[in-house]
Amino acid sequence: MLEIRNLHAEVEDKKILNGLNLTVAAGEVAAIMGPNGSGKSTLSYVLSGKPGYTVTDGEVLLNGESILQMAADERAAKGVFLAFQYPMEVPGVATMTFLKTAMNAQRKHRGEPELTTPDFMKLVKAEAEALLIKQEMLRRSVNVGFSGGEKKRNEILQMSLLDPKLAILDETDSGLDIDALRIVSDGVNRLRRADRSFIVITHYQRLLNHIVPDSVHVMSKGRIVRSGGKELALELEANGYRDYQDAA
Ligand code: ADP
Ligand code: MG
Ligand code: MG
Repeated sequence: MLEIRNLHAEVEDKKILNGLNLTVAAGEVAAIMGPNGSGKSTLSYVLSGKPGYTVTDGEVLLNGESILQMAADERAAKGVFLAFQYPMEVPGVATMTFLKTAMNAQRKHRGEPELTTPDFMKLVKAEAEALLIKQEMLRRSVNVGFSGGEKKRNEILQMSLLDPKLAILDETDSGLDIDALRIVSDGVNRLRRADRSFIVITHYQRLLNHIVPDSVHVMSKGRIVRSGGKELALELEANGYRDYQDAA
């Protein structure tokens, strides 16, 4: 599904990714952990195609196709989804309208017809109900005045409607409370599928008690320096990252 080879990237002339290799299979949930500043968020931005991040070497293949030349919206159409750590607020744009626009933009890129309003309403109602989102929230401006939990629900709703092939969740420094933790982990677990991969970036092991990963990777100084199974997360929790600060 996803193959990252020798990825080097910089932002504002600062080298951040230094030859990162990572493979994530279809259906796999890969957790990336690592000390603050190791480049985890940068990796998620580079994968999603955020402007300002320059790839200087390496390759990223999604189902065998290189995505590095694609703009962010093309990657989104190919099924790359990045859940934002700090969701943006969009005053004056109803959440419902935002979701419909995002879905139709994706469909346009894919050469699919626009969703009609009734079809969209059917989809969004079913998903919102499953995520315990009230209709009233969908009429409010995107993320404006949303509680932490509502923002998380909205993020999972977006993810679910956009039907990603590769979903990247960066929860690194967000200090998820118990409610948000449950929303995110239930949301991800519900969306796990044989043809969908997840990269779950987290600073803390506790999220991985709820989203049990297939693989755990330690990032340090812009590289993956160790990979293992879910037990690696427990080891990191016990020992911290002191072994990895100078690993790269
Ligand atoms: P992590 O998510 O693992 O904490 P980041 O990817 O946020 O790490 O940051 C990695 C390094 O890159 C840090 O040293 C950070 O200060 C630096 N960095 C991130 N974004 C920028 C930027 N826009 N300009 C300059 N340096 C940046
Ligand atoms: Mg950080
Ligand atoms: Mg980060």
